[in-house]
Amino acid sequence: MSCADWECFCAICGGPLRGVSYWIDDDEDSPRPGLDAYNPDVFLTRPEYPELEWLDDIRALGENPKTSAPSTVWLSGPASVGVDGDVRFELEKDSDPALQDMPGAGYMQAYCLEGQNPWCAPFHVKCHEVLRRFLGVESLDREVLNETFKSLGSRDGWAAFLEIDYGDITEHRTRDWFPLRNHEYLVSDPIDIEWLARFYKRLPQRKEGGDEPGGAYNTQGDPFSTLPLDILSLLVLSIPTMEDVFKARMASPALANVPLSQSFWKSRIVPDMPWLWDMPTPSDEQRLSVDWSRVYKELFWGSQRNGTLGLCNRRRIWTQMCPQFGKRYASIVEAKDH
Ligand SMILES: [Zn+2]
Repeated sequence: MSCADWECFCAICGGPLRGVSYWIDDDEDSPRPGLDAYNPDVFLTRPEYPELEWLDDIRALGENPKTSAPSTVWLSGPASVGVDGDVRFELEKDSDPALQDMPGAGYMQAYCLEGQNPWCAPFHVKCHEVLRRFLGVESLDREVLNETFKSLGSRDGWAAFLEIDYGDITEHRTRDWFPLRNHEYLVSDPIDIEWLARFYKRLPQRKEGGDEPGGAYNTQGDPFSTLPLDILSLLVLSIPTMEDVFKARMASPALANVPLSQSFWKSRIVPDMPWLWDMPTPSDEQRLSVDWSRVYKELFWGSQRNGTLGLCNRRRIWTQMCPQFGKRYASIVEAKDH
């Protein structure tokens, strides 16, 4: 069990900022033996837990309003969190200028929006990378990011995260991190995902007659059945998400009869799953040989709960967290540009 009295969490993903090495094995004293803990078999390389090391790789972003440096905003080097909601880091000769003349730099209360303490927010380096990918920029502007975080800060003097909806992760935090069986994905590395790297290297190959034949459903009474197949195909192609494609095909047998080609499935992968930024561009040979329908489905299900842990966490951060920062970040950039 964690000995933390009060810990702070990642501003971006909401997760713990240190390795979660405190799962309980089937403790007989536990009211729900084995359930209030992660499954030790999931993190196979125990006791070193290299899969969880990314949790310790954190930075803090904050400000020093009284600095004489040109920018009041600073980014720390490698940091860690303490047991009273604090963030710690070494102050080096090459640390940001705004840190050099700040009393107490290197040992700071996190998420402190009011009072004497200057503002700072800690985050995982890898979550910062997911957010950068989400925003589609070469690098995140630290002043804009700091303003984004600060504008989402809580006035609660005991704040341990931002005042936003942390989605799936919310129930796992009290005063410290609360591990739950079958929720291991919440602490899984969202960037370096072994399963995904292997999958990209060996994409499933098409079998003979790979395209779906189509035309299996009775279209009697379906008004769409009066339209020619090429128009129906265009209609299916114009539906923005696969979920809506499936709904349309359930509602209309004529649309369900439109064969979904391999190129159709391929064209849907990245638009439907934009968190797959590392999907390699297929070679000409792969365009023809790969079973893109299977690729789509495996990546889709791999991104869901009970799918692949890291990929599921990546989707969670991308779809639940990044939009909350993205809009704010973009509007701050726009305001700065005018
Ligand atoms: Zn994080």
